[in-house]
Amino acid sequence: KLSRRLERVAIHIPKESTLADIGSDHAYLPCYAVLKGLIAKAIAGEVAEGPFRSAREQVEQMELQHAIDVRKGDGLEVLSPNEATCIAVAGMGGTLISSILERGKDRLAGVKRLILQPNVGASNIRIWLLENDWELIDEEILEEDEQIYEILIAEKGDPLRPYSENRDLEIILGPFLKKEQNKAFAKKWSQEKAHWERIVKQLEEKGQNPDLNAKRSELLMQIRMVEEALNQ
Ligand code: SAM
Repeated sequence: KLSRRLERVAIHIPKESTLADIGSDHAYLPCYAVLKGLIAKAIAGEVAEGPFRSAREQVEQMELQHAIDVRKGDGLEVLSPNEATCIAVAGMGGTLISSILERGKDRLAGVKRLILQPNVGASNIRIWLLENDWELIDEEILEEDEQIYEILIAEKGDPLRPYSENRDLEIILGPFLKKEQNKAFAKKWSQEKAHWERIVKQLEEKGQNPDLNAKRSELLMQIRMVEEALNQ
């Protein structure tokens, strides 16, 4: 059975895509998508030997070798240009996901949709999308086993479309997530706020100097921004 997190990632794979799942580990996502009949063809990419073997074994066990190609390599380098039409990168930090996209830019030709699932640091991805003409078209946030996950879906288009004049805040919170304000969203940001408040307190105990003060005002500003967003 697939985790709810990956099930929600799979929902966004367009029918008939050639899916590339980068950092596939057990290849659960491509196996599920093929078995469900969502897609006919996928590539599972893995950089590390152990997970690469797990992916290969899973695909063999499910007898899906005809549909899923397991490849070893760093990020998008496992793809030829115009091969994949949908790329999923899930279960990593937002910084790593952005760097995989940045380093693999030349392999994004022909890709219609990105499905990105950062565990932390989603704002790094929103910034990358903005800078690279990918339009965020939808977002999800969900909680599973006490962990909160975000899913960002993007297509080539107008990168500014999802944002209002309050872009700086929306880059942090997610423009769609901020509008929706579901339970997971409220929980995530009240936890973050509590965390920032603890840091502010620690900084105050350390005393005064320009660096500490600057850090403190930045955190206080973030706290105020989140408070405003949550009270809307
Ligand atoms: N995508 C699966 C999921 O969401 O359940 C697996 C997530 S697992 C925590 C992250 C995987 O990404 C690891 O197996 C790791 O080896 C792989 N990975 C990390 N950096 C990578 C890179 N640059 N290229 C390909 N795979 C990478």
